[in-house]
Amino acid sequence: MREVVIIGGGAAGCFCAAEVSSLHPDWRVTVLEAGPRLMAKLAVTGGGRCNITNSFADVCGAPPCGPSVPSDRSATDLRRLSASALTTVYPRGATLLRQLLARFGQWDCTDWFGARGVAFTVQQDQCVFPVSQDAMQIVRTLERAMRDGGVKVLCGCKAEAIGPDLSLRISGSAVLRPDAIVLATGGGTARLLAGTGIELVPDVPSLFTLKIAEEGLRSLMGTVVENVALGLAGTRFHATGTLLLTDWGVSGPATLRLSSYAARHLAECGWKGTLLVNWLNATEASVRERLAEMSGSGRTVANSHPAELSDRLWKYLAGRAGIAPERRWAELGSKGLSRLVNVLISDSYEICGRARFKEEFVTCGGVSLKEIHPDTLESRKIPGLYFAGEVLDVDAVTGGYNLQAAWSTAWTVAHSL
Ligand SMILES: Cc1cc2nc3c(=O)[nH]c(=O)nc-3n(C[C@H](O)[C@H](O)[C@H](O)COP(=O)(O)OP(=O)(O)OC[C@H]3O[C@@H](n4cnc5c(N)ncnc54)[C@H](O)[C@@H]3O)c2cc1C
Repeated sequence: MREVVIIGGGAAGCFCAAEVSSLHPDWRVTVLEAGPRLMAKLAVTGGGRCNITNSFADVCGAPPCGPSVPSDRSATDLRRLSASALTTVYPRGATLLRQLLARFGQWDCTDWFGARGVAFTVQQDQCVFPVSQDAMQIVRTLERAMRDGGVKVLCGCKAEAIGPDLSLRISGSAVLRPDAIVLATGGGTARLLAGTGIELVPDVPSLFTLKIAEEGLRSLMGTVVENVALGLAGTRFHATGTLLLTDWGVSGPATLRLSSYAARHLAECGWKGTLLVNWLNATEASVRERLAEMSGSGRTVANSHPAELSDRLWKYLAGRAGIAPERRWAELGSKGLSRLVNVLISDSYEICGRARFKEEFVTCGGVSLKEIHPDTLESRKIPGLYFAGEVLDVDAVTGGYNLQAAWSTAWTVAHSL
């Protein structure tokens, strides 16, 4: 019999425990959880609905799936994906995830939970949720699978240190010596490995919104623009998508993606910098063409503008270009038009900090991927020590990709053990 200790009763730890115990009913599998109960974070994911994975249709360039899990999965087969395609959703860890997702991908996840009675729906934005819209259904399913497999759970039990000889010190100074340890303690917890010589990539937050100094922009809070392109001045970081203006600055999918791509750079700059906004996500030539059509209409600037931009936002942007909204298009002249084009395609705002996204953020950093065997997720330095979930230097943009990384890494560890 083998004895396996899984440290961390979150998504990755519990999934790994459930899978190992079903593969090896004769093994002794124990989950140590520092908190008072298992999967406290999983229970609040997706606003309590649990965005468990994503169809990956956007990443695969496939037609959108939905609303049910597709029976023909060839268009979203992750085995054909390149690591560079995956970088758009996994800014860190895409190469590793490419390998792991090929073995345990999005539909393997829905099949696993489906076999245990959970039905799923694919939203229009390709995020996958349980039909029950209840994260507790996922929590209860994992708890049941662990119970059925005879997994021993110790809550309120904190792992303090792991030794190079695979010894494990827990709260109360007891020392355990299992055959294998799975570290699944989540983001920001890798310091548990201090003293092992295992390289850790420093933790910084990812998935946050940006505080903007400019009051005029903040006064437009509640405004949504469907398709903008954001960038960070002086860098190659950029992201497209929906932008939401808030009373502190900018939020919405485009901002969260940018914060994820540039997480480390922004942390190094103290979350300061210059945000570049292309309000129409269009080239200069196409914006000039659209404005030229409007200028022939004989109407005022306020009365005729691109449909993507609300009246309030349009007047504000015209003001930034030094143009009074009541002026007629024909009166702007080439200089006025050029100023307006410039604001529309390369507007810029001072970033003065970061704010959390609805209490949700993910940690970028953790155990360096150089430290693990990519096939098994076992430590190169300490044989018998495995890693699953956010403790690894792997993280994703929003959309169910972070939990999918937890399932894929945990499944890989369970099968490597
Ligand atoms: C509010 C919120 C909403 C989210 N929503 C989504 C979503 O809808 N979809 C999505 O894909 N991602 C979402 N995420 C991200 C997702 O929850 C994480 O990526 C995922 O939980 C990581 O799983 P994990 O098991 O690696 O870590 P965790 O879920 O953080 O679990 C780690 C566990 O280890 C325990 N632990 C830590 N240190 C020790 C120790 N020394 N000893 C013993 N136990 C320890 C912790 O108490 C914790 O229970 C959300 C995150 C937040 C904060």
